[in-house]
Amino acid sequence: MRAFIGFIAVLLVAGCQTVETTKGGTVGVDRQQRMAVSSEEVNAGAQKAYAQMMGEAQKKNALDRDAAQVQRVKGIVARLVPQTATFRPDAAKWPWEVHVISLDEVNAWCMPAGKMAVYTGLINKLQITDDELAAVMGHEIAHALREHSREQISQQMGTQAAIGIAGALFGIGELGQGIGNVVADVTLNKPKSRTHETEADRIGVELAARAGYDPHAAVSLWEKMARMGGSEPPQFLSTHPSHESRIADLKAYSERVMPLYQSAKGSAAVGK
Ligand SMILES: [Zn+2]
Repeated sequence: MRAFIGFIAVLLVAGCQTVETTKGGTVGVDRQQRMAVSSEEVNAGAQKAYAQMMGEAQKKNALDRDAAQVQRVKGIVARLVPQTATFRPDAAKWPWEVHVISLDEVNAWCMPAGKMAVYTGLINKLQITDDELAAVMGHEIAHALREHSREQISQQMGTQAAIGIAGALFGIGELGQGIGNVVADVTLNKPKSRTHETEADRIGVELAARAGYDPHAAVSLWEKMARMGGSEPPQFLSTHPSHESRIADLKAYSERVMPLYQSAKGSAAVGK
C-alpha cells in the first residue's frame, strides 16, 4: 500500500502545472496558479454535485418557489455572463445555470463551470438591490472564472493526495462522485483565502460595471454584511472572510471600473 501511495504521489507531482486561468481585464488580476487536478475532472464533479443538490432542493419544495424572484436573479446573471469573455473567452460555452433556493441563510455561490445558487435569505435579509445582487453574483462568478475551487483542491492534494488515491481505488465512476463531493465541499463550506477574495472582488466589480450595474454597490453590500455580524454573522462571511482593507480595495477598484459602467449605461440608453 505504501508503494502504491508513493506511486500516486509521483503521478500528482508530475501532473502539477502552472496556469493562467484568466486575462487581466481592466482590474489587472494576473497571478499564476498551480493546479494538480484538471478542469475537466473538477467541472464534471461540480455538475454532478449540483444536479444532485438541485434535485434535493426540488424534493423539499425549496427550488425556484417565487417566479418573479427567479426571473430577477436570472436576468441579472444573464447580463453578467456575457461579460466573462473579457477574462476568458471559453466561459461563454460553460453550462451556466442559476437557481433560487428557499433557505433563510445569507448565502450565494458559484461552483466550477458556472453552476450557481442564490438563497432567499440573501435577498430578503439584506433587502438586496439589483446592483448589490450583481455585486454578489459577479464576485461568485469571478471565483469560478479564476478556478479557485480547483486551486484549493490542488493545494489540499499537495499534502494529502486524497483524491488520487480514492480515485484509483474506486475506479472512474466513483472518482467522479468523489470529486463532486470534494468540489461542493470546497466551494460551499471552506473559507477562501484573502488572495482569492481580493481577486474575486476586483474581477467582480468589473463584471458588474461592464453589465451596467453600479460597481459601488459592492461596497454597500459588504457594509450591510458587516452590520449583520454580531452573534449570528451571515453564512456568506464564513466562506468569504472579510479583511480590514477589503472596503478600501473595493472603493478603489469600483472607481477604476466606473468608465466601463458609464459606457455600458450609455450604450443601454442608446439601445432603448
Ligand atoms: Zn468570495
